[in-house]
Amino acid sequence: MTLGNKNIETNYSSAKYSWLKSGGVINNLYKVYKKNDLYNLFSRNEIKSKPLLVIGNLSNTLIKDEGFKGTGIKLLGDFANVQINYDHMLVGAAVLDNYLSKFCFQNNISGYEFLFTIPGSIGGNIFMNAGCYNQEIKDKLISIIFFDIYHNKIYERDIKELNFDYRKGFQKSNTIILYGKFKITKGNQHSIKNLMKEYENIRNKTQPQKANCCGSIFKNPTNQSAWKLIKSSIDESFYNGPIKLSKIHSNFFENEPNISANSIELFISKIQKRVRDKHNITLEKELRIID
Ligand SMILES: Cc1cc2nc3c(=O)[nH]c(=O)nc-3n(C[C@H](O)[C@H](O)[C@H](O)COP(=O)(O)OP(=O)(O)OC[C@H]3O[C@@H](n4cnc5c(N)ncnc54)[C@H](O)[C@@H]3O)c2cc1C
Repeated sequence: MTLGNKNIETNYSSAKYSWLKSGGVINNLYKVYKKNDLYNLFSRNEIKSKPLLVIGNLSNTLIKDEGFKGTGIKLLGDFANVQINYDHMLVGAAVLDNYLSKFCFQNNISGYEFLFTIPGSIGGNIFMNAGCYNQEIKDKLISIIFFDIYHNKIYERDIKELNFDYRKGFQKSNTIILYGKFKITKGNQHSIKNLMKEYENIRNKTQPQKANCCGSIFKNPTNQSAWKLIKSSIDESFYNGPIKLSKIHSNFFENEPNISANSIELFISKIQKRVRDKHNITLEKELRIID
């Protein structure tokens, strides 16, 4: 069996689909609907020898203006399903956070309310160890199922064997996260709903809404808040222009659509420099910038 035309999209525009509404094209994006698509694709040496980029919901990714010329992968089909098994949920990497949170609510499963407000996919969450409101995806995971492009094989790893950390999840190179096996804790539907609403309200009050943004630009350094370090290091000019910091949250920026990705990167380095000059701290980017 070979991959058909429906599997390949050329010049996929990240500016069209990313949360930032900016970024270069992915020259060849392979849409993977089932495991067999992966086995077929990565049996080809010319595909596996190129750099790999897996995209989720592009809520934390900026592709530089020059575009990505390696092998782009987007999971769909079988990887967009949630299955409840005896003692766990098998969640495809393409499932969106908001969908999983609502699914859990409908099935009286608690602990996934925080995902209601994160705009990513489960694959992106596992890669980033996404979290908010004192919870992280690692706390909910039992194991991860992934594809290794060199061995053309699927593996499963227990979360206890993996060193997840703050915004650093499963970042093993040349792998594609396919599924997460997640814990099931039964809860009360009314309380689940209330918590989802509470988190949504907090978010609406503390972060910009309906803006082109990527969430937090930088990780918080240990015992410090990135937004405070930024706010105390910059001047008013950073809050104006086609790419500007948010007045609601100084670790967020907002940009006009289709603005050059490289100019966003430059803006970010200017903030980094200001913070370094003022506090002698180098902020580490949370946003993934791809070239
Ligand atoms: C408004 C807004 C609010 C946000 N709030 C939060 C928050 O509260 N907490 C938080 O942690 N994040 C937050 N984010 C950031 C973002 O939503 C998370 O990092 C999320 O986990 C990214 O998921 P994604 O599917 O969009 O990933 P993408 O942006 O598509 O990808 C992110 C990284 O994961 C890799 N990746 C994605 N899928 C796979 C896969 N299947 N296999 C291997 N690698 C993969 C990509 O290669 C890339 O390096 C926010 C973003 C926005 C825009």
